[in-house]
Amino acid sequence: MKIKQIVILGGGTAGWLAANHLAKKLNLPNGINVTLVESPNIPTIGVGEGTVPAMRESLKYLGIDEGDFIKRCDATFKQSIKFVNWTHDPAAHGNHYYHHLFDYPLINQFNSTPYWLNKHCQLSYAETVAVQGKICDLGLAPKMVTDPQYQGTTAYAYHLDAAKFSQMLTENAVDKLGVIHIKDDVTDVILHTDGSIKALVTQQNGNIFGDVFIDCSGFNSLLMGEKLGIDFVDKSDILFADHALAIQVPYQNVSQPIASHTISTAQQAGWIWDIGLTERRGVGHVYSSNHTSHEQAERDLRDYLGSEFDNISTRRIKMHIGYRAKFWHKNCVALGLSQGFVEPLEATGLLVFDATARMLAEQFPMEHAEMPLAEKRFNQRIRQTWDRVIDFIKLHYCISKRRDSAFWRDNTDPRSIPDSLQENLEYWRFKIPTEYDFHNKLSIFNLDNYLYVLYGMEFETSSQNQQFQYQDVDGYRAWLKELANYRDHLSKTLPEHRVLIDKIKKYGIQSV
Ligand code: FAD
Repeated sequence: MKIKQIVILGGGTAGWLAANHLAKKLNLPNGINVTLVESPNIPTIGVGEGTVPAMRESLKYLGIDEGDFIKRCDATFKQSIKFVNWTHDPAAHGNHYYHHLFDYPLINQFNSTPYWLNKHCQLSYAETVAVQGKICDLGLAPKMVTDPQYQGTTAYAYHLDAAKFSQMLTENAVDKLGVIHIKDDVTDVILHTDGSIKALVTQQNGNIFGDVFIDCSGFNSLLMGEKLGIDFVDKSDILFADHALAIQVPYQNVSQPIASHTISTAQQAGWIWDIGLTERRGVGHVYSSNHTSHEQAERDLRDYLGSEFDNISTRRIKMHIGYRAKFWHKNCVALGLSQGFVEPLEATGLLVFDATARMLAEQFPMEHAEMPLAEKRFNQRIRQTWDRVIDFIKLHYCISKRRDSAFWRDNTDPRSIPDSLQENLEYWRFKIPTEYDFHNKLSIFNLDNYLYVLYGMEFETSSQNQQFQYQDVDGYRAWLKELANYRDHLSKTLPEHRVLIDKIKKYGIQSV
């Protein structure tokens, strides 16, 4: 009983990422057909503009030309998330920020963390382990125009237009990888007697039969949730934000600088994202409707933007925070919003869906007999991935020193913090995190990410019993000098972000 036919329901970013990964891996060598059905009437969610560096690997792997991608998706470079006012109440402490950089902290060259904790300098934590913060603050790009595709002087991801990205993935999947594309509404689902899916019933194309069905139908989760009845595990008791207001605003002029990082500014009951694409900014307020009204959330967003954009309307999106109790059930796999979702603070959406699509393609069962074990493993791994993602997102809230609204007080209440995160935080009060604390291959956020956020937010690790880690103060000073020199050198050589983007749009990027 060979598997021959994969049917994907849904043509949002998740559906098309899955189609690309599955077709790339399985189409030619194994002769498995991939068909994607999407409704011409039900729109995609249309948001999701921030990515992480893993996206670079995926685009390269899928054979997409980086220059083409930048031109067609209005994409820009992203080197960091700049977290503004997350640690303290700005009314009492003034504005402040820290960077969660994409460059790894250079702790293998010189482990400056214990020295920084012992206040051996006035610099921010990120400045003692990397140079990229300054590159971002100066509005510079992560690479030169002469750098080959997908290579940079510093690590980077992208900001992109979600609708244009889906379109590009569609063409890549259909034209280059042989995916069959059907535009039709799915009105019903036929099951086998054992409860697995036999076919999707469409309005105009009859029944679409398959061996494996991938549910990428968005928040509605038509197959996994509605038809197969797999419960949704709600996590809104940990992560409170349940709505977003999204708006697209134009630049004042064509030479206005574009930030090469996402800006995330904390609010009284949530936070605002600000993402610069080539032609416009995408801005949104993510908030908890239990802690503020929709009207107040809109006012906060308008205050942030300034009155010049008052004539542009916002779009309100309800978010379901949590994941399915199972991601693979019989012959159905859920991917994308139908699999799970947490607020887009660290651009986890595309990251998790891309990683799971790739894992699915790489571990794909070739015969029906392999299915039960593949299902078991997939469910275990993906559940762990989601739980670790939730821990990491919660970290941004629960170690904040803000107590200026119910939202922040509730977020720092230990009862809202998962046990796994609490245990880590207790341990890290005495021990600096190390890679031994992170062991799962599919853990998306690891030591580097935790170091930037913990110490960017002034988390205190006692150094009482760790004097042995900070004996070489002269070495530390020399290291800081070395970093400062390198930072100065890059500040003078890297191009301004918009200048590089304009050049790429004109000339492309060399392939090698
Ligand atoms: P959708 O885009 O909703 O697509 C669903 C598809 O299913 C559509 O094609 C629809 O036509 C089809 N469909 C549904 N029902 C039927 C039917 N009956 N018949 C046929 N077809 C059907 N992610 C990031 O990585 N970075 C971010 O910065 C980010 N920001 C976000 C901000 C917000 C406010 C939200 C809500 C999400 C954000 N995300 C982000 C997540 C990102 O938007 C999603 O991960 C991504 O767009 C994938 O969506 P999807 O493909 O699962 O669903």
